[in-house]
Amino acid sequence: MPATSTDSAAKPLSGRVAVVTGSTSGIGLGIAHALAGAGADLVVNGLGDTDAIDLTCAALMAHGGRVIYDGGNLLDPAGAAGLVENSIASLGRVDILVNNAGIQHVCPIEDFPVDKWNAIIALNLSAAFHTIRTAFAPMKAAGYGRIINVASAHALVASPYKSAYVAAKHGVLGLTKTVALEGAQFGVTCNAICPGYVWTPLVENQISDTAAARGIDREAVIRDVLLAAQPTKRFATIEELGALAVFLCGPGGASITGAALPVDGGWTAQ
Ligand code: NAD
Repeated sequence: MPATSTDSAAKPLSGRVAVVTGSTSGIGLGIAHALAGAGADLVVNGLGDTDAIDLTCAALMAHGGRVIYDGGNLLDPAGAAGLVENSIASLGRVDILVNNAGIQHVCPIEDFPVDKWNAIIALNLSAAFHTIRTAFAPMKAAGYGRIINVASAHALVASPYKSAYVAAKHGVLGLTKTVALEGAQFGVTCNAICPGYVWTPLVENQISDTAAARGIDREAVIRDVLLAAQPTKRFATIEELGALAVFLCGPGGASITGAALPVDGGWTAQ
């Protein structure tokens, strides 16, 4: 059930059910907390240690809503579709779908491992197709759907040594625009959030790869590579991304669809 007028201010997403892929860590976890704080029930997904995931789910449940965990591997199309099917079977519906799970690999293209290319396309692009494909008909039937694809500034511009990631993220933007057009008359919006650099394990893990690819040290990677193009000279935060997701899912987001929304400290304004 959607929010009533009495709870809509404090909990604007009360009664909504949100599936957030890759929500055991980083940006996905930040968005999950923001949605749960706004009243949504959650399907949590992602890899990780069982005890850590239990703690994560307990912290999300502290917002007061229902929380289930689905460990579906999104490299597998059935795992991606199953996540949405589980939301409907266990929590009764799917109102909000955040395609966030993603991986990165940094390597010059002549040496770029084929298995890394295939995995990045499968997780960062194709998994969003499979979840959207499964969620779309129920959202249309309900007359409400909010699909948020966590793309990247790399959906808008490129950087060297990230061929698979940049290709996948540009593809996510094309998918976003197409789904927005298909959902426009059914109350289903689809947007891409395009973060610049956010301090998460994904970024931490690529610092050493970038250092090796460029022959520079860690501090130089952060200063001269990661934040060089980010005019604010600071990482965007998972709380900022969560607040944007909540806005897009609420009444103020109803006419925002097919958009690429940079949260990049001015990176792509240059
Ligand atoms: P992260 O590594 O902290 O989290 C990634 C999440 O995806 C984790 O929950 C992980 O378990 C999950 N995941 C990985 N492989 C999976 C699989 N096969 N099946 C299911 N789940 C899987 O990364 P993050 O930085 O929070 O990135 C989240 C998204 O934000 C990604 O799509 C990334 O491309 C995008 N992004 C990140 C940044 C940044 O600076 N951190 C910038 C722009 C875009």
